[in-house]
Amino acid sequence: MDINYQQILTEIFAETKSLKGRGKVANYIPALAGVDPNRYGIAIQTLNGETFQVGDAMTPFSIQSISKVFTLAWVFREVGEKLWSRVGREPSGTAFNSLIQLETENGIPRNPFVNAGAMVVTDFLVSCSKSPLTDILDFVRTLSNNPNINFNETVAESERETGFRNAALINLMKSFGNIENDVNAVLDVYFHQCSLMMNSLDLARAFLFLANCGVNPWNNERILTASQAKRVKALMQVCGLYDDSGEFAFTVGLPGKSGVGGGIVAVIPNLLSICVWSPELNQHGTSLIGMKALELFTTKTVISIF
Ligand code: GLU
Repeated sequence: MDINYQQILTEIFAETKSLKGRGKVANYIPALAGVDPNRYGIAIQTLNGETFQVGDAMTPFSIQSISKVFTLAWVFREVGEKLWSRVGREPSGTAFNSLIQLETENGIPRNPFVNAGAMVVTDFLVSCSKSPLTDILDFVRTLSNNPNINFNETVAESERETGFRNAALINLMKSFGNIENDVNAVLDVYFHQCSLMMNSLDLARAFLFLANCGVNPWNNERILTASQAKRVKALMQVCGLYDDSGEFAFTVGLPGKSGVGGGIVAVIPNLLSICVWSPELNQHGTSLIGMKALELFTTKTVISIF
C-alpha cells in the first residue's frame, strides 16, 4: 500500500497544534530560553530519495543531545568494541544530567546518551582526533549532505558559563580515571557539538545512514558496519530519550533521539528517517508535541519496529 506521507504530516500538524502551551522551553541554558515556543516543523527523508515536510522544517535549531548520536557513530567507527569498557549499554531510568548512579557505579556511565556517557564518548573523540571540532563538523555535514551546517558560538558559550552539572559529572568521572583528557578541553567539544544548528530536514537526512545499515546514502560511504548500526539504533531505542525511553517505545515504537532544543529524530530501518521540532518540553526534557507527533505518525502509517 502506498502511504501518502504529505497528507499524514498535514493531518498530524493540524491535530497536535492544540498542545501548544502545555510544555516549557528549556531555560537552564540561557541562550535556549529565547527560542520562539510556537515554532513547529516536521521533515521526512526516505531512502528512495523523497522528502516531505510541514511547518518550520527548514528553520535551524540547536540540536543539543541529538548530537550524541553523531559523536557515538564517529567514535564507534574509530575505536570499535573498546568503547564499552568505559560506558554501559543499559537504560539509566534517571534524568539526562543525574549524578546519582555515577558515584555508586564507579564513574562508568550507564549509556552513551546520558550526559556523562556522552562526555566519555567525546573524550574518546578528543583522544583520537587532532582537530575534534573540525572532524565532527565535517562528519555531520557529510551525513546531512549540507556543507553549511555550523556551531552556534553563543549557545556553546552560554552552556559553558552555566554547565555546572556537566562540570560536576566530568570531574567525578575524571576522579575515577574514566576521562583521559583535560576536562575543560572535553567540555569545550561537548558544548560545541550540542550547539550545532540544523533544521529538521538536515537531521532527517543525517540519520538516514542508520536506516541504511550504516551506509551514508549521499555518497555510499560505509560509516558503520550493519551490526554497529544495529547497536546504535538499539541504544537509541533503550536510552535515546533518557527516562522517557520506555514511554517513547510504548507510544511511538521506533529508535529515537531527543534534544532539549526540542528536536526528536526517529528512524524506520530500511525506509526513512523523520525529525520533529517543537521547543516546548515535558518534565523529562522531551519535546511534548514532538513525542505526540511521532506517536500519531506510527499510528497513522501503521509502521513501527514492533
Ligand atoms: N547540552 C545539554 C546538556 O548537556 C544537552 C541535554 C539534552 O539535549 O538532552 O545539558
